[in-house]
Amino acid sequence: MTKDVLAYIGLGSNLNDPVIQVTRALEALGTIEGTSILEASQFYTSPAMGGPVDQADYVNAVAALRTVLSPRNLLQQLQLLELSQGRKRGPRWGSRIIDLDILLYGDRIIDEKDFRVPHISLHQRAFVLIPLFEIAPDLIMPNHGKLSHLVDALDSDELELVRN
Ligand code: ADP
Ligand code: MG
Repeated sequence: MTKDVLAYIGLGSNLNDPVIQVTRALEALGTIEGTSILEASQFYTSPAMGGPVDQADYVNAVAALRTVLSPRNLLQQLQLLELSQGRKRGPRWGSRIIDLDILLYGDRIIDEKDFRVPHISLHQRAFVLIPLFEIAPDLIMPNHGKLSHLVDALDSDELELVRN
């Protein structure tokens, strides 16, 4: 039997009705081969940080997946979903219809030029840490230790729940 792994995915959008885009992407995650969604956070909104000025606010969420795919295969599937949802490659940190990042892949540490797990900015971003904490409050992460410690250190005034 193939061993499956618990992975956490960060979802984000600030174009073309972000709540709809994140909802669509969540549904699509569950259709990836060998992969199922265990849990998803609520949606959070925050102003864009970094990148071009005058970007629209972001909507972010985090999903827990169980997958038999390798990290690379999972990344490929996420990139296919981004493309199928109409994402175009723009400037780094620029506006996007959908962004799907592998935050964590079990306890694995991957340090390649184009692929880093834990995700390179995971530990600094309220819009990742807070939804992750919502679904995995006891998480201990490779390289970063206890998630709750990182959450305590956040100054996250600008993150708000999306009410629907
Ligand atoms: P960002 O998410 O940093 O705004 P992009 O979504 O445009 O930027 O991704 C740029 C590149 O980031 C991708 O081509 C991918 O190879 C790389 N990357 C590195 N680590 C990861 C990861 N953990 N999850 C997703 N993409 C990653
Ligand atoms: Mg990305």
